[in-house]
Amino acid sequence: MSEDSGFDSEDIQTVRKYALQNSIEYGGEGKTGSVLGRVLAERSELRPYAKELLELVESEVHRANSLTRENGIEEARTELMKIDPSALERQKHQKKKGLPDLPGDTTKVVLRFAPNPNGPLSIGHSRGVVINSRYAERYNGEIVLRFDDTDTRVKPPIVEAYEWIEEDFEWLSGRSADIIIRASERMPIYLKQAEKMISEGHGYVCRCSARKFRGFREAKTDCPCRGREISESLEDWGAMNAGEINEGDAVVRVRTEMSLPNPALRDWPALRIQHSPHPIIGEKYKVWPLLDFQSAVEDHEQGVSHIIRGKDLMDSTRKQTLLYEHFGWTYPETLYWGRVKVHGFGRFSTSGMSSSIISGKFSGWGDPRLPTLRALRNRGFEAQSLIDLWEEIGLTQKDIAISMKTLEAFNSKNIDGTCERRVFVSNPITLGISSDGYPDRARIAKHPEGKIPGTREWEVGRSIFIQESDYNQGKIRLKDFADIEISGSDAIIESEARSDERQIIHWLPEKMSRSARLFIPVGEKIREVGGMIEDLDLRVGEIYQFERLGFARIDCIEDDVVDIFWLHG
Ligand SMILES: [Zn+2]
Repeated sequence: MSEDSGFDSEDIQTVRKYALQNSIEYGGEGKTGSVLGRVLAERSELRPYAKELLELVESEVHRANSLTRENGIEEARTELMKIDPSALERQKHQKKKGLPDLPGDTTKVVLRFAPNPNGPLSIGHSRGVVINSRYAERYNGEIVLRFDDTDTRVKPPIVEAYEWIEEDFEWLSGRSADIIIRASERMPIYLKQAEKMISEGHGYVCRCSARKFRGFREAKTDCPCRGREISESLEDWGAMNAGEINEGDAVVRVRTEMSLPNPALRDWPALRIQHSPHPIIGEKYKVWPLLDFQSAVEDHEQGVSHIIRGKDLMDSTRKQTLLYEHFGWTYPETLYWGRVKVHGFGRFSTSGMSSSIISGKFSGWGDPRLPTLRALRNRGFEAQSLIDLWEEIGLTQKDIAISMKTLEAFNSKNIDGTCERRVFVSNPITLGISSDGYPDRARIAKHPEGKIPGTREWEVGRSIFIQESDYNQGKIRLKDFADIEISGSDAIIESEARSDERQIIHWLPEKMSRSARLFIPVGEKIREVGGMIEDLDLRVGEIYQFERLGFARIDCIEDDVVDIFWLHG
């Protein structure tokens, strides 16, 4: 941006490019919000000037839309070609894959990700973080990280989990959330709103037992509490909050209609009594909101513009819409996705994992057998690989099953260029070797395609290791070194150059090796494989790609043994 707060020609070109791209994509109906988002995604240095930029974007969008409508899409394409041919390609590409544009008004996009802090985030949660933060980025919007922690009884929060989730969120989205909220700290707002709802007759206190109310709900008839005076409800409300009514003996219901076709919507419960203390807030409150009510009020408080949720929560949308009608609020645009089952992990619930950690079955939330983000991160998965995965799946409402192999394939692609190669020989046997008349050195690339420059230089010495299963081959080639013939416990070099089609095996000079233990998570077990690892500049925490094995991370290096953890093939 230039001194006089005008934009320079490069800025204008960028805006024009995306205005044309968006206009072509939507047949002359390009949108200011989408274009602004794309511009800011490419040119983040313009973010502080978003307000000034808006005017330029508006005029370019108008210009591009007029051009597309009046002169046709081809004309717009030709102009975009001149500015940046790749913008045309990307537009085609994005349309097929990836996330669709958000519906409705996108001038001020506010999204939210709302986990229960009863454990760290798992692979399932990562979808919500990725999708919401990608949209926030696209529209230069905000993302609210909201802890839904008002359940003190069935899924009470874990005090440390708030921080874990903030870390997980930041790792995955590359930034912290714009707003972080704990529902438990916002109780006065929810209670006030509930009281207002009762005072205005939009809700009432119901003293029926759950079983009894179920009967009324099924019969589509009012329960006796429904017709009581507002003042009586308010009296009960006071008693509930004062701790004078036992758990389960009263709930606050939202007044809908008992004859609604969908039973779940009939006078749904909004707040209930919980006398069990909250791990952070303590015993201050006796009445706590249920998720549908708390979430609805908070979405309004935060000005959430778009909610993206599982299609199994369609009833929540319906319930909350009825509540919004009582309050005269506008319900956010709502998008849904179907279920995704990830094969490769057993069935894990957060509470199930929690108790297995306490019992000692798993070492902690980062245990490599668990589907938590910290476990994946420890093992060597990149945040980008999860982003790639969820963007590819997109917002389909179809229920799908994916294998961990899909995530692994994305991760291989992302880490391949940055991982040096090393050798690990499992179940090794020793062979004597004499390199008389041949070079005593082997030079092997750090990366076979040269993505990492440099070579590893080995001194061959007098003995080498090969994998036991390779022993019976007779004539074999030691990779990147020489053709040999095995005779007893000796390897006799026949030729330095490759002389025939004999099998190539990986190997390791004894001089270059160290004992190693390879750990492979297999379901709920961890398999240990002994072997020798190439002892060349190994760094703890680093991931290497091993011949025949795939990627693995150096977990620790002790004097006599190196522990490595398998990542994927
Ligand atoms: Zn009742």
